[in-house]
Amino acid sequence: MFKTIKLQFLPILICLLMTGLICISALHLNINSDIAANADIANTDCIDIPIIMYHAVSDAQSIQGDYVISSAEFENDIIYFKQNNYSFVLISDIINFVKGNKDIPKKSVALTFDDGYYNNYLYAYPLIKKYNAKISLAPIAYFSELYSNNGEISEYYSHCTWQQLKEMADSGLVELGNHSYNLHTCDGTHNGIGQLANEDTYVYKDRIRKDLTAAQNIISENTGVTCQFIAYPFGIYNKSTQELVKEMGFSAALTCTGGINHLQKGNIDSLFELKRLIRPHNCEINNIIEKWS
Ligand SMILES: [Zn+2]
Repeated sequence: MFKTIKLQFLPILICLLMTGLICISALHLNINSDIAANADIANTDCIDIPIIMYHAVSDAQSIQGDYVISSAEFENDIIYFKQNNYSFVLISDIINFVKGNKDIPKKSVALTFDDGYYNNYLYAYPLIKKYNAKISLAPIAYFSELYSNNGEISEYYSHCTWQQLKEMADSGLVELGNHSYNLHTCDGTHNGIGQLANEDTYVYKDRIRKDLTAAQNIISENTGVTCQFIAYPFGIYNKSTQELVKEMGFSAALTCTGGINHLQKGNIDSLFELKRLIRPHNCEINNIIEKWS
C-alpha cells in the first residue's frame, strides 16, 4: 500500500522538485539582473539623457515625412537602443530622478509621442509590447473625445479613443501626458498654449488654465490617469507658461528644442524645459543621437 502511494505521488514530487529548482534559478537570475541594473545605475547626480519626439507611425508611404515614420523605422529605433544598452524610461522616471526619489540607469532614453494618433496604438504599441519598451504619450484630449464618440478609425488622421489610451496606460508601458484639451492650433488667433501678443498675463493664464484643466479632467475620468507632465503644443511657451504649469502642479514640461538633457539631481527648473530630438522619416536614429552627443 505504502509503495503504491509512493509511486502515485512520485510524479507530483518530481514536479515540486522541478518547480523549486526553477524558482531558485529565477531568483538567482533576478538577483543577478538587479546587480547588473544597480551597477548600471551607479551613484551619480548627473545624467545625460536623450528624449526622442515622435508623432505618427504609419506604413502608408504617402504620409511619411517629418512627423510620420514607418513601423520598421520605429522598430529599428527600439532595436538600436536595446543593442546599445539603453534603458527605456518614462518622463515620471526622469522627474523622480531629478527630485531625488529614484535613481535611473546612467544610459537611459525616453521615447515620447505627441498628439495621440490612432496609428500609435496600431503600429507603435504592439512593438512597445514586443520589446518591453516604454513610451510617454501626450494626446490632444479634444480629439480623443471626438474619435471616441464618432467611431471613425483611420491610420491617416484619427486619434486614439479613451479605451485605447486606457488599455495602453494600464499596461504600465505607456504613460499619458497633457497636450492641451483643444489648443493645438497655431493660426494667429491661437498660439498653442503660448501667450498671444498684447494678451494680459492674468487673462492668459486663466485661459490656458481652463483648457489644461479640462484636459486633465477628461483624461482622468476616462483612463484613471492624472498626467504629471505636459508637452507644449508646437513647443511654444514663455516664462508665464512655465509659471502656470508649475502652479497647476505639473512636474515636467517637454519642449521641441533640440538637444540632449543634462539632468542634475535637485535642478527642478530643468524639468520644465526638457529638450527633445525630433525623429523624422528617412533618418537613422544613431545619426540623430550622435549629432547631439
Ligand atoms: Zn502636437
